[in-house]
Amino acid sequence: MTTFILQPTPDEAALGITAETLGVRALGPDVTPAQRAHAEAVWRPADPGQPCRCSGTDCVHGQPCDDDCDGSLVHRDRYPGSLWEITVWADDYQCSHCGVGADACGVILPDLPWGEIATDEQGKHIVIYEGIRHPNFGNDGGTLRSGGDA
Ligand SMILES: [Zn+2]
Ligand SMILES: [Zn+2]
Repeated sequence: MTTFILQPTPDEAALGITAETLGVRALGPDVTPAQRAHAEAVWRPADPGQPCRCSGTDCVHGQPCDDDCDGSLVHRDRYPGSLWEITVWADDYQCSHCGVGADACGVILPDLPWGEIATDEQGKHIVIYEGIRHPNFGNDGGTLRSGGDA
């Protein structure tokens, strides 16, 4: 059971935002790597004038879209950005005004791996933490194996 040190404001609660989707800031001190990764993967996007709910590393939430647009980028999603590098994530942004999307790959979060490396009799594999949506793998955790090299 995760302990949260932040709770949603009434406005956030009205939008269906729970403590679980406030991001890593809402986590108490006694969290596991899996809980931290889960929080980094399931936060709800914030308005461009509000701080992003991701951990902040390499985030361009709220920055201007481009010279021809008055809008700001909204950080919409963060998910694993590599098959085998467990600290590599990818980001999904969308402009609040023109709707143009922007993706950022190769975001490295050394303190927030999205899984862990384990070894068993079949060799090395990566266990994806529960609730992490890996784009190459599926929706809810699981195990990735390299092609059978033991
Ligand atoms: Zn962000
Ligand atoms: Zn724009």
